[in-house]
Amino acid sequence: MTDKPEKFIDENGIRSDGRRANEIRDVKIEVGVLSRADGSCYLEFGKNKVMAAVYGPREVHPRHQQKSNRAIVRYKYNMASFSVEDRKRPGPDRRSIEVSKVSREALENQIFTEYFPKSAIDIFVEVLQADAGTRTAALNAASVALADAGIPMRSLVSACAVGKVDDTLVLDLNKNEDNYGQADVPIAMTPDGKITLLQMDGHLTPEEFKQGLEMAQEGCRQVYELQRKALIDYYSKKTEVVTEATTAEDVKKDAPEEPEDVTPVDVTEDTEETEKIDDTNEIGVTKETDDTKEPGDTKATGDTEETEDTVKTGDVEELEDSGEEVPETGKNADETYGQMDESEEETSNE
Ligand code: ADP
Repeated sequence: MTDKPEKFIDENGIRSDGRRANEIRDVKIEVGVLSRADGSCYLEFGKNKVMAAVYGPREVHPRHQQKSNRAIVRYKYNMASFSVEDRKRPGPDRRSIEVSKVSREALENQIFTEYFPKSAIDIFVEVLQADAGTRTAALNAASVALADAGIPMRSLVSACAVGKVDDTLVLDLNKNEDNYGQADVPIAMTPDGKITLLQMDGHLTPEEFKQGLEMAQEGCRQVYELQRKALIDYYSKKTEVVTEATTAEDVKKDAPEEPEDVTPVDVTEDTEETEKIDDTNEIGVTKETDDTKEPGDTKATGDTEETEDTVKTGDVEELEDSGEEVPETGKNADETYGQMDESEEETSNE
């Protein structure tokens, strides 16, 4: 862990990472990055790197968790053991359980859960690299992933922290400011200013709190614009692909070129190959099959005929061995069935 810096903000009002007090870190958002999830988002917030995946609405397991009148929302926040400086013990801990709970509540409110009774909407967020503000970064990614999954929501949720260092309010704390600052207030809100998450670590005066809230609101608004833009860019590109593929011009372009010089072939003429097949067909099953073929019979492929050959030849041999009268194929097959019917009738009469 780095040591506490002497000053967080220099005389020009610039923070250690070059930002002003009311500036957020660079944000990068990618939508639809995981093909197996219903919705997904990769998000970078400064040095934080998070991946969110949404599954559902889907069946609830274990079943006793299901609600008859709405969907349940589950949120799993996990920090990879390699995401922090010193390796973190893998698996859930008290902190990740708390972050998961408050984040679920921050999003659940905005989802029309009543549209999907007895189902579950599962949100997973993996923190791949942590640098303070992971819960807010995770929430921003989860919100986009929910939209990508097509989950109906009242609005997106955007999150950002505000804090205090050197007795000054600053937006979106970095690692040092978070570790050694005087206050850290992660906030999530909707674009119309409804707060869905607010936590506070440290101390602020009521006046500072009020001012901090306004700063956070501006930060969340900027994040919201980026989330919205990422979704619009992603889906407008997708639409372009579909539109392009369906234009007549492209269908023409994709069609295989016709050969230049095509000599028409007389299909009625017997080719050498056909004659050869007829000659070798000694048991004459092909012809008989053709004779016995009823109109509309679909067994017309060479493959099927070959199968029939084999079966019939086998049957004949078997019957010959057993000394029974061998019925001819085709017509006699019907007679055989007729005989069977008669004998059955006789039996039933008896
Ligand atoms: P947030 O990441 O939402 O700001 P915290 O304030 O609890 O949440 O954590 C601040 C930062 O401290 C994290 O972003 C991360 O860089 C670091 N941190 C959190 N938990 C651990 C841990 N178990 N091991 C090492 N570093 C951690």
